[in-house]
Amino acid sequence: MVRIGAHVSSSKSLDLVFDRGREIGADTIQFFLSSPRSWHWKERSGEEKELFIKKRKETGISPVIAHSSYLFNLASSDPVLRKKSINGVIRELKLCEELKIDYYVIHAGKSKGIKESEAVKNIINSVTEIFSKIKLKHTFFLYETLAGQKGEIGKTTDELAQLMEPFKKEKTGVCVDTCHIYSAGYKINEEEGFNSYKSELSKKIGLENVKVVHCNDSKTPFNSKKDRHEHIGEGSIGYEGFEFFLNDEYFKELPFILETPKTADWDIKNMERLRKLIRTAPVAQ
Ligand SMILES: [Zn+2]
Repeated sequence: MVRIGAHVSSSKSLDLVFDRGREIGADTIQFFLSSPRSWHWKERSGEEKELFIKKRKETGISPVIAHSSYLFNLASSDPVLRKKSINGVIRELKLCEELKIDYYVIHAGKSKGIKESEAVKNIINSVTEIFSKIKLKHTFFLYETLAGQKGEIGKTTDELAQLMEPFKKEKTGVCVDTCHIYSAGYKINEEEGFNSYKSELSKKIGLENVKVVHCNDSKTPFNSKKDRHEHIGEGSIGYEGFEFFLNDEYFKELPFILETPKTADWDIKNMERLRKLIRTAPVAQ
């Protein structure tokens, strides 16, 4: 069974992510551990953590994915911001480990005024520091593929390979975002483009290191380097691109998470659209 779900709100109490996931019929969910655009960090009570673990068991929603704060920039040349980001990631990862969250997805960073090679170096130094402070036993640390908007690092498979290289012994991997890779210049809605992207991942990163798919159509055209998510089938990617992922023998084993606009019952509609694209094997006569 292909596991399809969505990013859900974690406001009020973390355990509510499972209620919200169940409400929309999600097999798998993603959420933020704290408000993604604020530095405020709320310590969670033992009761809240227990409730989280209990509801996870009850609902059977799996895997469970946390998305990092948007404020972190592990590439920053500003030592204060970089240190704050490193500490923020450590704090979030500690909670992930406590809650036995399967995957932690992060935007590696933005170059903002420095050379990209310098930004890559800063990220690697930051992640080295993070892994010197926390040993991941349960949670995988996943770099997300980015669109390349405003100096984002992680827009090419080569950049991701560079970021992964020093941490092969750690629990690291990649989260593929369909909108971002399409905007970054990978034509995954055509068979040839999809196959060549897959083989590039395979050669440079190792397919087994790709763990999660963010399933979003794109409001902006191919190669636009913009990060604007659209409902499935209504953007420039179109249904075909999602069909390739959902029916691919490797990708179909991964969790598919929607991060499409959240108004009304759009998560339900988008999940339905994705499920319809799954081809079932013909019944043997
Ligand atoms: Zn993201």
